[in-house]
Amino acid sequence: MDARTKEAIRYLGYGRHAVDDHTLKLVESCFEELSQEACGRIVYRIFELEFPESGRILLGNLDIHSKNLYKNLTGCKKAVLLGATLGPKVDLLLRKYSIGDMARVVTLQACAAAMLEEYLDEWQTALEADMKKEGYYIRPRFSPGYGDFDIAHQDIILRMLDTAKKIGLTLTGGNMLTPSKSVTAVIGLSETETSCHIKGCEVCQKRDCAYRRS
Ligand code: SF4
Repeated sequence: MDARTKEAIRYLGYGRHAVDDHTLKLVESCFEELSQEACGRIVYRIFELEFPESGRILLGNLDIHSKNLYKNLTGCKKAVLLGATLGPKVDLLLRKYSIGDMARVVTLQACAAAMLEEYLDEWQTALEADMKKEGYYIRPRFSPGYGDFDIAHQDIILRMLDTAKKIGLTLTGGNMLTPSKSVTAVIGLSETETSCHIKGCEVCQKRDCAYRRS
């Protein structure tokens, strides 16, 4: 079983070994259909960081009060701000099945979430190599909505990255990203090596790391 299938199954609420053949086939067929429709796009910019006081971060036009993000970024000089999406066709696919096949909609949702994570992980691996050449190590990505990093920051992040024009990523009136399978995130850049786990602190073995996301 590949990593994204395992992830999709986890999102569906199954333990790793408890999944039945019918669900597994459904997951495979959803990934197949999604791969025809998903079109991963990403936009990012690098900003200098300032920490005027404990728990407060200045990143371009963003003035963030968050103890969790502060901990994640402590020791970083700069940060990457990113917006990424799988594109609008994934939403059309979800809508297509929303009348009559809810099991497929739920599975497509899980598979698309796993696909977006995989897309970001691959992109992040390339970013890590590029940044290393410039003497920077990357911290795990941290999205608005994690811990006390207020999701309301997404609006200004999208404007700072001009995502509407560049990758068609906007917010709905209810502050939801559209297309729905999209994400915004901050990735700290530090001159001190932490060699972060690509999947983030939750699965990282460095239990005593000072920057660990709680
Ligand atoms: S716990 Fe691991 S993933 Fe999290 S900041 Fe530390 S080294 Fe990076």
